[in-house]
Amino acid sequence: MTEKLTQCPVCRGGNFSGYLEVKDHFLTGETFQIQYCQGCGFRFVNPRPGNTEIGRYYQSEDYISHGVEKRDLISRLYKQARTFSIRKKYSIVHKYATTGKILDIGCGTGEFLAYCRSKGFSITGVEPGEKARHFARTENRIPVSEQLSGLTVQPAYFDCITLWHVLEHIHDLDETIGRVKELLAADGTLVIALPNSNSWDKNRYREFWAAFDVPRHLYHFTAKTFGEFAARNGFELQKTIPQKLDAYYVSMLSEKYLHGKINYLKALIFGFWSNLQARRRDTGHSSLIFVLKMKKG
Ligand SMILES: [Zn+2]
Repeated sequence: MTEKLTQCPVCRGGNFSGYLEVKDHFLTGETFQIQYCQGCGFRFVNPRPGNTEIGRYYQSEDYISHGVEKRDLISRLYKQARTFSIRKKYSIVHKYATTGKILDIGCGTGEFLAYCRSKGFSITGVEPGEKARHFARTENRIPVSEQLSGLTVQPAYFDCITLWHVLEHIHDLDETIGRVKELLAADGTLVIALPNSNSWDKNRYREFWAAFDVPRHLYHFTAKTFGEFAARNGFELQKTIPQKLDAYYVSMLSEKYLHGKINYLKALIFGFWSNLQARRRDTGHSSLIFVLKMKKG
């Protein structure tokens, strides 16, 4: 069933305006409306496929975050970048949570968790995608639940909870963030990475910007709207960190959507330019990592 939001998921306001009409360039070619909330500026797909209907938008062999073994150039580059980014992710987590229990929501095939385990963390994953979950369990030996609600641990169990490019896929934000608060230790760390829909590469590619990825990405946060979301849910922002590799990857895919073919040179140039502009202006990088702690009291 198609769902129509009547209340802003961030500020609860009810007045929306049209922001952009975007095609599902990746899979179906269907068109979706992105609206923005007049109260807080939050951007989201509306109307959107409901929870039971969204599955078919993920049914592609190419859906790279859930793909398992591919050999073409993009996938190989992606894999190399993934190794690099796993180490980068771990270095961020390690600054705030030096040891203990970590939960990765949307853990995919589990490489990040496997790396955390090799560093002494006790690991748990949640992954709704069946293929990826199976791979995580069998190949990477990760304990993975299908749903967050299926985890049977004590409250305040985890020292660190991570969502790497996952929150924008989740229908019920309130339920998810509520459960995260329950599961996170009082002084625990929450790490959320998201595409930034104010970035230079978004402004360059507009409706061809690959990180819109409608309707799989239901929400299109910016540093400002994410800050609002975090504060309203009782979290304090500790730090915002750029994910610089994403500018290259997003530019590469966006070039493909815009011109019908991949142009590695342009992807390199525009990815580099996006990162440079992010430093000069206040629009921010293509993707951002937010490090959060729960507010005391
Ligand atoms: Zn709002």
